[in-house]
Amino acid sequence: MARPAHPRAGDAGMSLLQDMAAGAPPLAAKSDAALPRRRWTLPRRILAQPKGAIGLTLVVLYLLLAVFGPMLAPQDAFRQNFAQTLRPPSAAHWFGTDQLGRDVFSRVLVGARATLGIGVGGVAVAFLIGVPLGILAAWRRGWIEAVLMRAIDIMLSFPDIVFALAVVAILGANTQNVIIAVGVVAVPVFARTARAVTMSILAEPYIEGSAALGASPSRIILRHVLPNISGTLLTLSTLLFASTLLSASGLGFLGLGTQPPFPEWGTMLGESRSYIRSHPYLATFPGLFLAVSALAFNLLGEALRVIYDPTSRRGSRRAPLFAFLRRRSAAAPATAPDGDSAAGNAVSVKALRMAFRTRDGLLDVVRGVDLAIRPGRTLALVGESGSGKSTLLRAIGTLANPQEVSITQGAIGIDGESALGLPAAALRALRRRKIGVVFQDAASALNPVLTVGAQLAEAVRAGSRLDNEAVRQRCLALLKDVRIADPERRLAMYPHQFSGGMKQRIVIAIALAQDPQVLLADEPTSALDVTIQQQILVLLREIQAKRGMAVLLVTHDLGLVARFADDVAVMYAGRIVESGEVATVLERPLHPYTLALRASAPGAGEGRGQPLRSIPGEPPLIGQFPAGCTFRPRCPRTQGRPDCAEREPDPRTVSGRQVACLFAEEGLS
Ligand code: SF4
Repeated sequence: MARPAHPRAGDAGMSLLQDMAAGAPPLAAKSDAALPRRRWTLPRRILAQPKGAIGLTLVVLYLLLAVFGPMLAPQDAFRQNFAQTLRPPSAAHWFGTDQLGRDVFSRVLVGARATLGIGVGGVAVAFLIGVPLGILAAWRRGWIEAVLMRAIDIMLSFPDIVFALAVVAILGANTQNVIIAVGVVAVPVFARTARAVTMSILAEPYIEGSAALGASPSRIILRHVLPNISGTLLTLSTLLFASTLLSASGLGFLGLGTQPPFPEWGTMLGESRSYIRSHPYLATFPGLFLAVSALAFNLLGEALRVIYDPTSRRGSRRAPLFAFLRRRSAAAPATAPDGDSAAGNAVSVKALRMAFRTRDGLLDVVRGVDLAIRPGRTLALVGESGSGKSTLLRAIGTLANPQEVSITQGAIGIDGESALGLPAAALRALRRRKIGVVFQDAASALNPVLTVGAQLAEAVRAGSRLDNEAVRQRCLALLKDVRIADPERRLAMYPHQFSGGMKQRIVIAIALAQDPQVLLADEPTSALDVTIQQQILVLLREIQAKRGMAVLLVTHDLGLVARFADDVAVMYAGRIVESGEVATVLERPLHPYTLALRASAPGAGEGRGQPLRSIPGEPPLIGQFPAGCTFRPRCPRTQGRPDCAEREPDPRTVSGRQVACLFAEEGLS
């Protein structure tokens, strides 16, 4: 099949770049549309498990009993009949009569509502207190988390029933106080679980993407965190319901629960304890109903746990947290880039230095970077892993977490506005208005529990007052912009119903929702196959041409750089060692590192069938940069020259590009 001429390689007329670009497959060779998968509802998934089917059936029966029990009771559950006391089970009294001649069967039916009501109330109390505390701890971290978690540890050190007894002893014995007592006892479990799952969700890229759209913390929690942790919390509620029932019944058994004459299964057990040997049926029936109800909720909870098992969740990582969203952007000076040089640039970075915060102090990761991107141009940032390029991209996107990284010096300007030292609200507004971010893993960048339409609408609504119809029309237009066919139908679909390429198109559509001036793309196609890579990058070029955006493309693929970027900046050990127009830099690199990168690129050098060259040696670890030129231990050009060991070369202009090598001119010969 004839390979179509490439838009950039052909223009440049560069044999090497054409060679690199030649690795690309023909466009549109493969459709990346995916057929929708069958959708499983939660009840179906529960019923598909034997224990789930049993548990759900029993729970439904118990709930019906709680609702209709008093109506089904054959006799008055409160009427005393001293002529019929302590009668064994019979046709007239299926479960016998108690010490006051009341019908036990009727009391069990009537007591279902109070018993299950205490369980529901207790779980609700625990949920409403514990979940916000857990989310707060995960979100804010620091001393708030430490104080909350220590308090919870102290609560957990007491046995449940002892703690509940103490609460009831303080508040008094009645049904409401039993609900409060059993609820408070369960608060630590909800708080701990909510904290753990929230931390996991906050580490997901779609949270970062939402933050990049300028979403407020409350919106992120309501739209992204709560829907994603609801499954785990539902499972926990079901499991805790059983233990709450048992705690409440324990209090009832001790005479501290629902007070007579109102029937409640735990209270009935307590009343029967004097007759446990002579009339065991008095305890047997309420005890049986209680035990089966606990079993039913446990089985249902176990089935839900299998469905929502957190260990099977994608990306259960525990790292970067987002307390920083409510703080200032960084402890950096609030200086704007130099006015003259920044004018007209969509992105302007000046003398930027960043350092990781560690127990041993600050470790430099970005060391004096200057770069600029003009509207409508694409700058590719290339370099090996650990060179600092993703850290730099996050700083430009105002997404660097100041708890982890400090911007110690320099300035970042986005479309003429300083992006450093801003209050949280101003930072969110800047992100929303001017910056779009496309992350590497589209699957993680989309919230799995929200439809594509909901996620697009959220991005469109951020900071605007559009009505529902206007939002919908905008969402449809965005999907058309990224070439998604049948957008009306796609809006109602979930991310799992799309292929990888389609997901990345949706991520791009979300990033474009606010018409950003700057699009940051962190390895946007590395998770895709080469055909889809090509389609996505061509799409990005077309959108960029239409909108005049500046694009910062972080990649390690020089082939992509050759085909899709206008300018390139090569990063090594936290510095830009060579930068300039792609045609200039890649056709004749002057820095030995750029030369080595080019030689190790697929398609460069010896031709097909030859093994790829690798760059000798290892890049230096952060905090362990060698003295002098950091590339010296791997540099074939230095040949032991003392100048290379004495000072780190600053970038200077050589043959139409900036290059940080003391002997760059040797590359021209
Ligand atoms: S300054 Fe010296 S060590 Fe550094 S890249 Fe140039 S020749 Fe190599």
